[in-house]
Amino acid sequence: MFFLRNNGNAAAMNIGLMGGTFDPIHMGHLVTAEEARQQFDLNYVIFVPTGTPPHKEKETISLPEHRYLMTSLAVMSNPYFFVSTVEINTEAPTYTIDTVRHFSGSEKEGPEVYFITGADAILEIFTWKDYEELLRLCTFIAVSRPGYSLDRFRETLNRAYPEMVNKVHLLEIPALAVSSTYIRERVALGKTIKYLTPEPVEQYIKKHGLYLSG
Ligand code: ATP
Ligand code: MG
Repeated sequence: MFFLRNNGNAAAMNIGLMGGTFDPIHMGHLVTAEEARQQFDLNYVIFVPTGTPPHKEKETISLPEHRYLMTSLAVMSNPYFFVSTVEINTEAPTYTIDTVRHFSGSEKEGPEVYFITGADAILEIFTWKDYEELLRLCTFIAVSRPGYSLDRFRETLNRAYPEMVNKVHLLEIPALAVSSTYIRERVALGKTIKYLTPEPVEQYIKKHGLYLSG
């Protein structure tokens, strides 16, 4: 991808990946990505909307086109943020391991990949496909999220995977209890979602009548 070039010195690149359904993207995602970018000195953060998520019911999720466009609208004003179509362009369910392989490239001097997840997602990592290879290929930034404690996760990691401990960084961010589910529920109830998601996303949701039926 064109924006992954860094004057020919790819070795110096740190890229952040943030996977998600983004149905819709909201301030919790954006604040998390921006904080990770700054604290881990990431050159870019690439948002990767899922195509057919293996863990979620297909029928209840908005079309990939909608989720991709809303994510693009949300990142427009941040010069460090990009959106990738790598997962939504694939028919079959895609796994994080495939996406990370895609971005880390085959050469030794590929970018250093940081995968940003919320606390709820990282707690499930040991159920993910090829998670041991995944932990070798990238570093995880696990972000605090209201309602999820990372203490037990930290214990499990220390006990069962001591060699992986330095591959998972825990990042505390100011608590943002917003979730996509909360936004969808509010839209269905006719409640305002202003300031929970960027304004262009709010307009997009209105224009296309998304989430009206809950
Ligand atoms: P849903 O309610 O539909 O599950 P969500 O708000 O959890 O949506 P996802 O698209 O599922 O959003 O999440 C993408 C990634 O962003 C996950 O790693 C998730 O943990 C993280 N994330 C979502 N919201 C927050 C938040 N408020 N703070 C920190 N991380 C978050
Ligand atoms: Mg979620």
